[in-house]
Amino acid sequence: MQNTPKMTRKEHCNKCSCVTNHYVESSFRQTHYHPECDELYTDEVCYIVSCCGCKTTSFVCISTWSEEPSEPQHEIYPPRTLRKEPGWTSRLGSAHKKLLREVYIALGNDCLSLAAMGIRSIVDAYITEKVGDCGTFTKGMDALLANGHITQKMKEILEIVVDCGNAAIHRQFNPEPEAITLLLDTVELLLHQDIIGPKVNAIKAEIPPRPAKKKKA
Ligand SMILES: [Zn+2]
Repeated sequence: MQNTPKMTRKEHCNKCSCVTNHYVESSFRQTHYHPECDELYTDEVCYIVSCCGCKTTSFVCISTWSEEPSEPQHEIYPPRTLRKEPGWTSRLGSAHKKLLREVYIALGNDCLSLAAMGIRSIVDAYITEKVGDCGTFTKGMDALLANGHITQKMKEILEIVVDCGNAAIHRQFNPEPEAITLLLDTVELLLHQDIIGPKVNAIKAEIPPRPAKKKKA
């Protein structure tokens, strides 16, 4: 007897970093009725899927609210990672690592304002770690510059990063994904220098010294 071929559907695969065909390993449907009105309900269709390429397993839930039948919500677990977290982040201190991870999760769920706020928080945490609580962001940035943690150019860029986060918090600013990517590039650059600095210093210690100049006869 021939086996029925598995159903497939297209979903984002975090490992392949793109939309791929997924086998539907299992599926079910359930309806959640409003506690006070049987005419209002959420219809859920859930799938356990595995990427046809790399076999990564995900859980997909498509829910439709009876009042908005043309706008089904699509959720996938683990959340989509639109941008892969670099391997070196595992070597960050726990505070920065946790914040950065939450920014990636916000990004993966299209929560761009939250991501901008999180990126701003990373800059705050960096200031506190390097120069302590300076009272205001401006004083903190000045202290970072005065103590050689950042250059004047980086200070100017970080001021834009923080302003973007402030606008997301106070002015309903919802940045585009490209803008968030640039902000993330900036804070990653800031944090990465602390990771590579000691390694580069170790290389410096291994470089043979220049031979002494011969004195002219
Ligand atoms: Zn895959």
